[in-house]
Amino acid sequence: MYLYNSASHKKEEFIPNDPKLVKMYTCGPTVYHFAHIGNLRSYIMEDVLEKYLRYIGYPVKRVMNITDVGHLTSDADEGEDKMLKGAKREHKSVMEIAKFYTDAFFDDCRKLNIKRPDVVQPATGCIDEYIKIITKLLDTGYAYQAGGNVYFDTSKLEKYYIFNDHNEEDLAVGVREGVEEDTNKRNKNDFVLWFTKSKFEDQALKWDSPWGVGYPGWHIECSGISLKYLGEDLDIHCGGIDNAFPHHTNEIAQSESYIGHHWCNYWMHVMHLNTTSGKMSKSKGEFLTVSLLEQKGYDPLAYRLFCLQSHYRKNLVFSWENLDNAMGTYQKLIAKIAALKPSDEPIDEDAVTALREKFNKALGNDLNTSLGITALYDVLKYQTNDATKLYLLDDFDKVLSLDLLKKAEEARKKAASAKGSGGEYNIVSESGEQDAAVEAKIRARYEAKKAKNFAEADQIRDELKAEGIELTDIPGGAKWNRV
Ligand SMILES: [Zn+2]
Repeated sequence: MYLYNSASHKKEEFIPNDPKLVKMYTCGPTVYHFAHIGNLRSYIMEDVLEKYLRYIGYPVKRVMNITDVGHLTSDADEGEDKMLKGAKREHKSVMEIAKFYTDAFFDDCRKLNIKRPDVVQPATGCIDEYIKIITKLLDTGYAYQAGGNVYFDTSKLEKYYIFNDHNEEDLAVGVREGVEEDTNKRNKNDFVLWFTKSKFEDQALKWDSPWGVGYPGWHIECSGISLKYLGEDLDIHCGGIDNAFPHHTNEIAQSESYIGHHWCNYWMHVMHLNTTSGKMSKSKGEFLTVSLLEQKGYDPLAYRLFCLQSHYRKNLVFSWENLDNAMGTYQKLIAKIAALKPSDEPIDEDAVTALREKFNKALGNDLNTSLGITALYDVLKYQTNDATKLYLLDDFDKVLSLDLLKKAEEARKKAASAKGSGGEYNIVSESGEQDAAVEAKIRARYEAKKAKNFAEADQIRDELKAEGIELTDIPGGAKWNRV
């Protein structure tokens, strides 16, 4: 397979150090708040990469950290401590916040069919590892103590800037305005390995160290956790493009200075999810979470499909209209698959070879997931029996993870029971407009009524009314229009 390597700025053939085990590391979430769907885009695309590597026969060991200490609001170690900020906001302890948002993160992952990495390691669980690395970096002159903290000395490196092919604005992502500069640093880009003199008097988590009681910087945790579980030769390191600088640049600096040789061969970065008004963030505009998508009647897997429809190295613009389109595409795709008849017919091996080749050509070319989706339609159109088609759709779904066969089966059952109860429930809009979210709500109201849950049915009707949707029951269904 070919993969774009951000470190070399080229698409390269992927050759693991040891084909018997691909070692993959992904930066995990800082668990002080819910993840927004822009954060989750990175995890979806990394999940596709892991599953595709497994699909083509590589065993993979994937490790991810959970940041529960040391990450300040500026990625360049300035500003407020994110975990403390979350704890204050919710009047809880830092550990309670960490547990709650770690669970919430994996809940979102489950809904989006993102596989849990083989190793998930909270940063607070590897303090000894960081101390070991920092001690050696001090001994070898790569680090220095100043004002009570330990810093990495970037001037000791021949080449510090690794991911500098982005524009200045991108490079400055982590270095936000309005934070005071740390005067202990010898060089502008030096970063903290260990904090002891913290401006946060109420820092909840601290540990003893050779340099005094304190806590680790954010960057050291990924180096420490990766080296601990994956050793000194890493195949692939992934993350959102936000992490490229300074986080990944700092990871390379400290890891390679520590081990004394080249560390990671391939770097994969997923580009931003933007809103129509710019980069998505937790503080700006609507806070877009998986739960919000569900509340609005969207299947989280429609969002997964939305992400797969474009390339991970392109910025993607999110709007409700775009998500509606993805939802419509998803529903139509499921309906087409539901129309196939499962049977014991023999698998058509020629068809399997031909169609798999198309799929591999797409995914093997720097994860072209959009062509991977097209390969699903190629299967549906191909002149072969339904058993072969279902077999292939299931096969491709090992990578795409859209629950294609499961949803199709559900749709078949639903259609059968609708027939049994005297026909389908039809939803029509007066203007001919199609709105998947509205239709999903109307259907939910119908289901609630059928289950004699009239309070819920009335509540859904009120919600629709509040959104300016007027609903009229008609024989065999409902009609709606915007008022
Ligand atoms: Zn990281």
